[in-house]
Order: sequence, then C-alpha cells, then structure tokens
Amino acid sequence: MKTIFIATKNKGKVKEFESFFQKYHLKVKSLLDLSEDIEIIENGRTFKENAFIKAKTVCDIIKLPVLADDSGLEVEYLNNEPGIYSARYAGLHGNDLLNNQKLLEKLHGVPFEKRKARFVCALAIVYPDGKTIETEGECRGYIAEDMRGDRGFGYDPVFYLPDFNKTYAELSDEEKNMISHRGRALEKLEKVLDYDKDNCCE
Ligand code: IMP
Repeated sequence: MKTIFIATKNKGKVKEFESFFQKYHLKVKSLLDLSEDIEIIENGRTFKENAFIKAKTVCDIIKLPVLADDSGLEVEYLNNEPGIYSARYAGLHGNDLLNNQKLLEKLHGVPFEKRKARFVCALAIVYPDGKTIETEGECRGYIAEDMRGDRGFGYDPVFYLPDFNKTYAELSDEEKNMISHRGRALEKLEKVLDYDKDNCCE
C-alpha cells in the first residue's frame, strides 16, 4: 500500500485525511509517526504561504513528497480574526476549548446575521525536485451562540451550517469531508493526483 506523508501533528486533520484518501487506498503518515521532532517555523503571512513552508520544511528533511495543510477560521465581525492565528487564538497552541470560549465571548450579544464566518484551507504538496502543487478551499457558515456536537476538532462545535442545521461537530466524517474547506481543497487536489498518483506517494 502506498503512503502519503502529511506535515501535521494535528490528530483531527490526520483523521480527515485518512478518511479522504481511503478511496485511493493510500495510507496516511504524519509527523506523529516520526521519531524526530521537526520544528516548523510558521512565519508566513497567509494560509497559502504557511502551507508551503510546512510542506517544504518537511520535504527537505525526509526527502519524500509531502502534503501540508494550513487552515483557519475568519469571522467577519472580528475583521477576519482569528485567521492564521486560529490554532493559538487564546494563547496556547491547539487549546480548542479556550479558543472556542474566547471566540464566543467576543461575539457575546452579536445577532445571528452578523456572525458570518468562513473556514479556509490551503494545501501544498512539495516534491523533492522542488515541484509544488497548491490548492485552496473554503466553507461559509455562522458562529453559533454556544458549542454543539462532540465530533471533529478545533472550532467545529461553534461553526454552524444553516443548510444542515448542524455544526461541523455534528457532521459525520464523510459529511464534513464533502462540504468542508479541507474537503473542497482536497477535491481540487484530487484532480491533479488522478494524473500524478504514482508520483505523489512513497
Ligand atoms: P494550523 O495547524 O496552523 O493549520 O491551525 C489550524 C487551526 O485552525 C486548528 O488548530 C483549528 O483551531 C482551526 N481549524 C482548521 N481547520 C479546522 C476544522 O476543520 N475544524 C475546526 N477547526 C479548524
């Protein structure tokens, strides 16, 4: 079975990639599978720049094609906060509960129609020869007034989709992959991988 390497330590993302790449019979490996700790300096100004930095840093070290995801939430009322700082909005990297609480506090009393938000996902695959493929996906919704659902990760419990009357955290993995920012960016990548499948993986 071929393996695709993802430059992430985020278990929630790994799970979504595993579910997506199942149809290709591709096994997913990530930074969680390496014995060495690779430090990635995420100093890009955009999701796209950060996705590239992650993929390139890891590709240069492991000498294999690497896929990276940089993603986050933009809330219109908060001038697109937390944006590229989504993972560390409340200070500590990856503390989902504190991030959600901070966001809900900032939007306390703000009416539904002003709670518009979008998730953005930038993907980059970098190959050892320097070739790079980049795609982007988005999903639009609203910030709920409280947390709902126990699936997923990050801001899933507060990201509400009126068409489903559900938050991201109430969707199954398949449903989320079908409509999410990451699913949409992967869909675009899929078109390229169809041609390039033999070269994208170990
Ligand atoms: P990154 O690992 O630097 O790309 O940080 C992404 C952060 O954005 C995560 O830690 C989450 O807080 C948030 N995020 C990205 N994608 C999702 C998602 O699908 N659901 C919920 N939160 C997400």
